[in-house]
Amino acid sequence: DLALYHSKSTGRGRHSVYQAWMTAEANARRELEADLKHALAEDQFSLVYQPIVSAEDGALVAFEALLRWEHPTRGNIPPSEFIMIAEEAGIIRQIGEWVIRSACSEAMKWDPSVKVAINLSAVQVEAEGLVGTVLHALAATGLAAERLEFEVTETVFLRQGARTKATLDQLRALGVSLALDDFGTGYSSLGYLQRTEFNKIKIDRSFVQSAASGCQESLAIIQAIVALARSLGMKTTAEGVETEAEKALVSKLGCTQLQGYLIGMPEADSSEVCDRLVA
Ligand code: C2E
Ligand code: MG
Ligand code: MG
Ligand code: MG
Repeated sequence: DLALYHSKSTGRGRHSVYQAWMTAEANARRELEADLKHALAEDQFSLVYQPIVSAEDGALVAFEALLRWEHPTRGNIPPSEFIMIAEEAGIIRQIGEWVIRSACSEAMKWDPSVKVAINLSAVQVEAEGLVGTVLHALAATGLAAERLEFEVTETVFLRQGARTKATLDQLRALGVSLALDDFGTGYSSLGYLQRTEFNKIKIDRSFVQSAASGCQESLAIIQAIVALARSLGMKTTAEGVETEAEKALVSKLGCTQLQGYLIGMPEADSSEVCDRLVA
């Protein structure tokens, strides 16, 4: 690494190539940011819905709403590439409001036993007005609070936002559920499981994958998470289940819910899946 850095900072040719790359990167980012600001008004966002089923009997328990951005010239840009930009540009709140409202409205088309899970980034949880946005969306769509679940990652607790805990507590008090997403990949300090009442832990795909391919450490981590969740009265969803072997393993380990391409792909039309998978 040092050698690479040295050649970049001393070799003239490399240096300018590197700088050109940096500039191109920064320009591309600025362009995306400008485009993002029009994306809502120009109707370029959509949601796809991925089923989450009971490990016990395969019944549909929820759909996770996942955001898609169809860029007019670049095509589909994944959330991993634009959520952070939207946060930095100060427009995640508006986008998030649209997501919450649209997903709640879609959920009204499903069997009432099926929940809708919506992702929230740390910036959204920390921002003012989230609880109001949620109340407004529930009132406007008629969705019961008990059918709504928010997924947050451990990063919400790292930023130490003054409002974060109060906001999560208020959402719980409304009857909304909370899931801890991508568990195990972050800092996994367990203190916040005590301070905030989560209903569910989502075990990251990386553990599911490696445990099924024989990694004993990953297997032990899944067992520990399942035991922890059980003793705290939480459900567990195994994320990213792609093969029958993975499904069999996480079911045997006691995960209560399954999600992944094997169970169902994220799709724009949720009604067909709903009809097929409701118990
Ligand atoms: P996430 O919440 O952990 O969502 C799961 C991601 O894994 C999704 O990627 C989903 O399409 C993908 N996935 C599901 N099953 C499988 C599988 O079997 N194999 C593999 N390889 N992947 C699978 P996606 O849709 O690209 O979303 C990425 C991340 O972007 C999400 O991770 C979430 O953190 C964030 N995100 C998505 N929609 C929203 C949104 O509306 N708001 C916010 N703030 N973040 C969002
Ligand atoms: Mg999620
Ligand atoms: Mg996840
Ligand atoms: Mg994940």
